[in-house]
Amino acid sequence: MAALNKKTVDDINVKDKRVLVRCDFNVPLQDGKITDETRIVAALPTIKKLIADGGKVILCSHLGKPKGEPKPELSLAPVAVRLSELLGQEVKFAADPEVVGPNAKAAVEAMKDGDVVLLENTRYRAEETKNGEEFSKELASLCDVFVNDAFGTAHRAHCSNVGVTKYVDIAVVGYLMEKEIKFLGNAVENPERPFVAILGGSKVSSKISVINNLLEKVDTLIIGGGMCYTFTKAQGGNVGNSLLEEDYLQYALDMVKKAEEKGVKLLLPVDAVAADAFSNDANTKVVAQNEIPDGWMGLDIGPKTAEMFADAVKSAKTVVWNGPMGCFEMSKFADGTKAVAEALANTDAVTIIGGGDSAAAVNQLGYGDKMTHISTGGGASLEFLEGKELPGVAAANDK
Ligand code: AMP
Repeated sequence: MAALNKKTVDDINVKDKRVLVRCDFNVPLQDGKITDETRIVAALPTIKKLIADGGKVILCSHLGKPKGEPKPELSLAPVAVRLSELLGQEVKFAADPEVVGPNAKAAVEAMKDGDVVLLENTRYRAEETKNGEEFSKELASLCDVFVNDAFGTAHRAHCSNVGVTKYVDIAVVGYLMEKEIKFLGNAVENPERPFVAILGGSKVSSKISVINNLLEKVDTLIIGGGMCYTFTKAQGGNVGNSLLEEDYLQYALDMVKKAEEKGVKLLLPVDAVAADAFSNDANTKVVAQNEIPDGWMGLDIGPKTAEMFADAVKSAKTVVWNGPMGCFEMSKFADGTKAVAEALANTDAVTIIGGGDSAAAVNQLGYGDKMTHISTGGGASLEFLEGKELPGVAAANDK
């Protein structure tokens, strides 16, 4: 297994200590109500453990993009309310426009062992996303121990997950972080084979390094979504008005060649659902992937392709999926993504969903509990699949 060489909450003693925990409470809100609490629930095991061990638990997180100033609609106050209910004890919200201002300091000062305080949105401070020194020091001044459990931001070096660790002696990762790295790391470094990766989404350019890295690891690489038309065009097909990145035609050919050289089966679509407009009201028809007429665009994989992809998943022992197969936000172009989600739900393979759109699709379809692991971090899991070291993980103390 890709062993985590970082200290975790199991390696420390927090009794009587002030523990600052960076969580990922970046939840969707509508009119002040939390519409998906997956990330809050995912943070509970670490928080409960620290409470049980007698720590003074100070939680922090960002929420949305307030761009460095207080925005009441992006306050973490609703998270404190929900968290209190989920934990069955009061989570005191330290309302403070400076995040670590007089209110936050007073709230922490008054804490007893086992108490929980939630700080205000860390991105109310402009330094946060710049990994600035002053805010990092302020955060560190609140605590004796730092725990990073925010996988969703682990690919970013910000004050609240990286900067702060420079000014505390003890910095470890939490259970969620440990779990994410275990599943993603195991899948990539030590997969049970056959190992199949499915990539979709809009652009080849945003997934170059992922394709390149996965070709070193997988037995089969499946490519759908808007990305596939650049491959089809590179191989001489007609893609009509489909999404195309002219600058990546050679790259696509290089990847086809690399797959051949590595003995990796590269599965590209054989048919497409083509539309005469980028709209759910468009006229549609199923056409061969390499014969998309001028004026038409491929907005989903076709039924033959969906069957082919589902078949490839059936014999797999490990499957990693990142990115939708089509414009699944429009019901007319959601069938390909649904078919892949269903195939993953019905296999005995280890199934890992790389966050973002694929996670949303799987959950919307009610297949969430059929997957081995659904990552809480889209961007972070993608960078992990690229083989990059995540700064948020690197900053924790080594074992
Ligand atoms: P990404 O953020 O790169 O993972 O891309 C996700 C987006 O890709 C979704 O919003 C999809 O609607 C879009 N997408 C998937 N397939 C296509 C396609 N064939 N043409 C255009 N956009 C697509």
